[in-house]
Amino acid sequence: MTHDLIIIGSGPAGLTAAIYAARARLNPLLFAGFSWGGQLMTTTDVENYPGFKDGIQGPELMNNMMEQAKRFGTDVKYENVNKVDFSGEIKKIVSDSGEYLAKAVIIATGATYRMLEVPGEKEFWTKGVSSCATCDGAFFRDKIVSVVGGGDSAMEEAQFLTRFASKVFLIHRRDEFRASKIMQEKVLSNPKIEVLYNTEIKELEGDIKLRKIKLFNNKDNSESSIDSDGLFLAIGHIPVTNYLDNQVELKENGYVKSSDGVHTSVKGVFVCGDVEDHIYRQAITAAGAGCRAAITAERWLSELE
Ligand code: NAP
Repeated sequence: MTHDLIIIGSGPAGLTAAIYAARARLNPLLFAGFSWGGQLMTTTDVENYPGFKDGIQGPELMNNMMEQAKRFGTDVKYENVNKVDFSGEIKKIVSDSGEYLAKAVIIATGATYRMLEVPGEKEFWTKGVSSCATCDGAFFRDKIVSVVGGGDSAMEEAQFLTRFASKVFLIHRRDEFRASKIMQEKVLSNPKIEVLYNTEIKELEGDIKLRKIKLFNNKDNSESSIDSDGLFLAIGHIPVTNYLDNQVELKENGYVKSSDGVHTSVKGVFVCGDVEDHIYRQAITAAGAGCRAAITAERWLSELE
């Protein structure tokens, strides 16, 4: 069987594409991944997604989108795509359960957490090192924890961790944050958070768990270390494109290349969301891009007939 449309990815981009495509009667098949829903599944309050005047929890928003996509007939497989073959007119998608064919494909696999790449990071992964305060924060009740990064994610993680931890170090490599002012203000006025500016993490130390973080101050070239039972990584993201095996053109920074945020270098293969957009990276921009991708795919499919 050849599907009209296969969508890969189940964040706001993929699910919005599914809602639009399903309502256009394209009967989309959506590969959601083992851990579906994307980055909002590990977020707490989402206060800037229009339509929710009191905010909404990230996982609840994603559940709603998933249910909405299914309501209109999206067929969802909770599997990862391992391989694609875009060389022919009919595109092939390979997951653990087999090979699937489609006339059009939408790539919406988003981005994943960046790692520091310092000694000890892998050793203490899940033994103190985490990328998700929402998931792991409760394990650090009355402990000292650290967050690294200077963007909105770092602010959000630090702020959230103060619910549990006795103290939170916020470690940033520069002397100013790139986070939005409102998020910075919340962090800077929180007495439980101590900011370490101009500070780089050199190594993580511990026994069976993380205990210490070795630091380097890049302003005065001094070295020091802090006791810390946890380290939460919030240093940005890397687009998820490994399964594409360079079958669509990528930008220099590894994101999928597109002249208009929808078309890829391959006819019939469209893109949306954080896997293409390294600038805005918001749930609402990803959702908007998903809508554009679905409408473009629909028009492309109707031109084929
Ligand atoms: P980001 O804005 O790209 O910030 C990444 C931070 O990590 C930067 O401060 C960067 O430092 C630092 N960094 C990168 N590589 C590093 C390394 N190797 N070592 C140490 N530090 C490193 O990423 P983000 O905070 O995940 O945010 C991504 C997007 O999502 C943004 O558009 C943000 O506004 C949005 N977001 C919104 C919300 C919300 O509204 N609730 C929550 C989370 C995220 P430099 O500053 O020195 O480059």
